[in-house]
Amino acid sequence: MDAFMQAAIDEARRGLGEGGIPIGSVLVHDGRIIGRGHNRRVQEGSAILHGEMDAIENAGRHPAAVYRASTVYTTLSPCAMCSGTILLYGIRPSWARRRCCARAASRSWCCRMPPAAS
Ligand SMILES: [Zn+2]
Repeated sequence: MDAFMQAAIDEARRGLGEGGIPIGSVLVHDGRIIGRGHNRRVQEGSAILHGEMDAIENAGRHPAAVYRASTVYTTLSPCAMCSGTILLYGIRPSWARRRCCARAASRSWCCRMPPAAS
């Protein structure tokens, strides 16, 4: 598996461990992760803290050229809000191509995620 997608999955696991919705994301520029995040809507009581938004926020502020040369890896296809942000900054999106379980939030584990290594 792609190391950056694995990092996004690790973020999703981190979110699940916090009692949140298991969706993770990383922002990658020049072969390096510059931002990591996971869905924190439950943890923070937020309406907007999706994994992609958290990763982009945690990356801090960068010149426009950095965003345009970056890729966001996410464990679930981006929603309209995250897609809008990704388009606004010209970030390339990358997400797992498999369809995910629509009930991921109510299940103990998202169908997209492989079991944790023991
Ligand atoms: Zn979203």
